[in-house]
Amino acid sequence: MLAMVLRRPKTALVPESRPVPVPGPGELLIRVKACGVCRTDLHVARGELARAQSPIVPGHEIVGVVERRGVGVETPEGTRVGVPWLGYSCGNCRFCASGRENLCENARFTGCDLDGGFAEYAVTDARFAFALPESYDDVHAAPLLCAGLIGYRSLSFTGDAKRLGIYGFGAAAHIVAQVARHQGRRLFAFTSPRDLVAQDFARSLGVEWAGDSTVMPPERLDAAIVFAPVGSLLPLALRAVERGGVVVLGGIYMTDIPSFPYELLWEERTVRSVANLTREDATRFLALAPRVPVVTRVVPYPLSAANDALDALRQGKLSGAAVLVT
Ligand SMILES: [Zn+2]
Ligand SMILES: [Zn+2]
Repeated sequence: MLAMVLRRPKTALVPESRPVPVPGPGELLIRVKACGVCRTDLHVARGELARAQSPIVPGHEIVGVVERRGVGVETPEGTRVGVPWLGYSCGNCRFCASGRENLCENARFTGCDLDGGFAEYAVTDARFAFALPESYDDVHAAPLLCAGLIGYRSLSFTGDAKRLGIYGFGAAAHIVAQVARHQGRRLFAFTSPRDLVAQDFARSLGVEWAGDSTVMPPERLDAAIVFAPVGSLLPLALRAVERGGVVVLGGIYMTDIPSFPYELLWEERTVRSVANLTREDATRFLALAPRVPVVTRVVPYPLSAANDALDALRQGKLSGAAVLVT
């Protein structure tokens, strides 16, 4: 099979011909049909995540069909499934035992510790392969699996905030915006200064105000989600939220956060991060997405052009989500 392999951080992915892997007990062999390209793949490729293994096959928004199953797996061959970032949790640690498997001490992550979906086949733990809503084709379903899931988890931590700011309008934001509008919230989008394309994209999804991240919104926000991996956005987002508001940091990596005056946090403003996902998040979000309905905007690339897709993401050239098609 063809696999796009990160042999060492800070190098391009290399096409390799590998034997098709064999599923062990509890595992599935999936014939990959599509795999989304996420900003986390960029952080893995750049060596910005300390835990990432190499060599590794990146990709954690896998849509495919069960080709073979290991011992003890009941999912029929031919079933379409989706595999997310959380590829394994132990079920025994104190975090798993308290409904927080996203924080599992023994977690393993797809395309980071475990070979992922930038390949023609992937082996995954059957417990982390989800049924997907039928109304999505393979390519349009892929972004639901990370941009959608992490975005949804981030959104859930904003409570009942009516006026919601979103910093960084990429794949996650374009899905969150649709869910938030469905929930009746008012949306304000912040992009890199003068990124008029992203601002127009945001408005096309029901965002009522879109502007530069350095600018204050026309009114105070109840909550903000920061998806862009830029630490200097945190003080800006805190300045934009109302007293008692929350700023949710939705990314796995962020550049250093500059110091800021306490008055930006004063009056019970809260800052929190979001890490990974739980299977419960997936169950809820994958049921909700077709009811909104969330329409994903995708930019397809052939699997062999994975480096081009990563470059386009790095350069901020995408409106929506890049997806590798196998
Ligand atoms: Zn655990
Ligand atoms: Zn991701």
